[in-house]
Amino acid sequence: MSKSIPILPKWFAKIFAGPYVAGENMDLALEHVASLNKKGYAATIDILGEHTRDTVKATSITEDYCSLLKKIDDMSLDCNLSIKPSHVGLDISRKTAMQNFKKIINIANTYSNFIRLDMEDSSQTDNTLEIFNDCNSYYDKTGVVIQAYLKRSIKDLEKLADSSFNARICKGIYKENRTISYHDPEKIRNNFIRLAEIMISRDSYVCFATHDLVLIDKILSIIKNKKIKNDKYEFQVLYGVPMGGKLEELIRQNHKVRVYVPFGSEWYEYSIRRIKENPNIASYVLKNLFKKNSY
Ligand SMILES: Cc1cc2nc3c(=O)[nH]c(=O)nc-3n(C[C@H](O)[C@H](O)[C@H](O)COP(=O)(O)OP(=O)(O)OC[C@H]3O[C@@H](n4cnc5c(N)ncnc54)[C@H](O)[C@@H]3O)c2cc1C
Repeated sequence: MSKSIPILPKWFAKIFAGPYVAGENMDLALEHVASLNKKGYAATIDILGEHTRDTVKATSITEDYCSLLKKIDDMSLDCNLSIKPSHVGLDISRKTAMQNFKKIINIANTYSNFIRLDMEDSSQTDNTLEIFNDCNSYYDKTGVVIQAYLKRSIKDLEKLADSSFNARICKGIYKENRTISYHDPEKIRNNFIRLAEIMISRDSYVCFATHDLVLIDKILSIIKNKKIKNDKYEFQVLYGVPMGGKLEELIRQNHKVRVYVPFGSEWYEYSIRRIKENPNIASYVLKNLFKKNSY
């Protein structure tokens, strides 16, 4: 089923996109966030899209992120932003992306909100970390992402992690060469834990972004054993990924959970990627077609 998804017409693919995407427009996404907040989840919004090659478009996306910050504040939502550097101009130049991030950060500063730079493929790791360092020296409510599949990540983290550092650790989603990345799932998990332990030992704020229930349980036992306070970490998941009741359990146990909420007209490519990542999703979506999302 998953292999046939990319050739399906958009109207049909939309059925599968439903659980993963919070609509095509900002107001709908904000409604989803409000409803998540009511259920005890924090959120982070991402406008779908990447690899913007047109300066005018990069500026317009930047303005959309600025409007989002205002609306989030107007609605008093517990929600920050996650932004792909290539979406706001990194493929045009680092300078363009930096200028656009500065505009967003200025508005974030007005509302005291937080901005995270998502991490893309390894060709952009250095650029992204440099933009992050620049942004962070200017406004400290900024964070970045560290990918556990990259062999370089431990060294990156050793340079970055201190008590004011805030990073999302995730496994990493792009296809990377074996010379620079781990492919064995167990090695990736182990590296995830090592990265988490470095951040914990340096008193950084850690965001554990995973749907891997075994990994979540390992993280929970580290949190318990090291008696880490719940204002020093959070769990993060992608909107719509089935978690079999784990999120509700985490909330009940007083752990912070943030849901990554993507929205926008470029939902098609994003959803196809999600479905390819988990072929079971196709049957899951069919089974749940007439049920409401569990969030
Ligand atoms: C909040 C958040 C932000 C992220 N940001 C980035 C980023 O900036 N850069 C980056 O490279 N990667 C990012 N990722 C993706 C991440 O790197 C992984 O590719 C993805 O989360 C799958 O890894 P996993 O840890 O969930 O474990 P896996 O072992 O891959 O998955 C565990 C279980 O969850 C299911 N599952 C996992 N992901 C999905 C999905 N998307 N759709 C349906 N089922 C799924 C799997 O089928 C499996 O059953 C992010 C992930 C999250 C949760």
